[in-house]
Amino acid sequence: MSENLIEIKDLYVEYKSNKGIVGGTEIIHAVNGVNLEIKQGEILALAGESGCGKSTLAKAIIKLENSKSGEINFKNKNILKMGKNELKTFRKSAQIVFQNPYSSLDPKMKILNTLKEPLQINTEYSEKEILEIIREKIKKVGLSEDCLCLYPHEFSGGQRQRIAIARALVLNPEFILADEPVSALDVSIQAQIINLLKELKEDYNLTFLLITHDMSVIKYLADRIAIMYLGEIVEIGTTEEIFTSPKHPYTQALLSAVPQISGEKSDRIILSGDLPSPANLPKGCKFHTRCSKCFEKCPKLNPPTINISDTHKVKCHLYE
Ligand code: SF4
Repeated sequence: MSENLIEIKDLYVEYKSNKGIVGGTEIIHAVNGVNLEIKQGEILALAGESGCGKSTLAKAIIKLENSKSGEINFKNKNILKMGKNELKTFRKSAQIVFQNPYSSLDPKMKILNTLKEPLQINTEYSEKEILEIIREKIKKVGLSEDCLCLYPHEFSGGQRQRIAIARALVLNPEFILADEPVSALDVSIQAQIINLLKELKEDYNLTFLLITHDMSVIKYLADRIAIMYLGEIVEIGTTEEIFTSPKHPYTQALLSAVPQISGEKSDRIILSGDLPSPANLPKGCKFHTRCSKCFEKCPKLNPPTINISDTHKVKCHLYE
């Protein structure tokens, strides 16, 4: 079994937010006691509705968001305790591919300079070495060297995402956070980018955290899936376990909305009500306000995490 590249222990992230026209501020409890391992060389998908805390958790992992407490260990070193130099080395190893490639590329910079920048800031490579790396990576993402003299607006959405991926690759990272990497692209282009990510994972032995609400993308790309609800991981398992035998009522509802490739109809489970505010978390099981299987103890007691198998865990009183 692969070793863990990242181990997250009892992580809490919260931040202040303005209450809008009511005035004043409130505390958003975005991540609430997350324990999670990301194994070397795997694609772990983090799924859940928007507002469930998945993007905040992902940003905390690469230290773009401050954590309140807990540990985030990258190769057995807690990044929350790292000094400036250690953090600089970590940042080279962990890169991001954002949802919208246009906003992540500087419109006034030629692609060559966009790809040069991280190498000039973070390495001591000569100009010749930098150009060799850039040529290799741009080819690897399926573009020709000619594109290096052009500006971002001269490319299609799919090409721009390829450039953003090349930029993430130039520092030879070990870990890539892919935040909704295809959701801003045309459906016809999505499959190409998904296949590219899969290929890069194999060729460079990369580890991915994939954030997406699209369960079809997850089914194709991910090795394991963690389901998040109101800042907690409520179920985790291999992609096969989650798709063939989802245990948590929330996971079952999420999957019931995925169109079947066979054309068979699945009975869609419609969740009642909206996601409660993370500023005002429900007591007991955080899902109880929307769960059709809720019973007496659910609103009172926080459910424990139960092992269904070595790889499959669920946080629900039904499996005690
Ligand atoms: Fe539903 Fe209770 Fe399980 Fe929560 S603990 S998911 S409310 S059955």
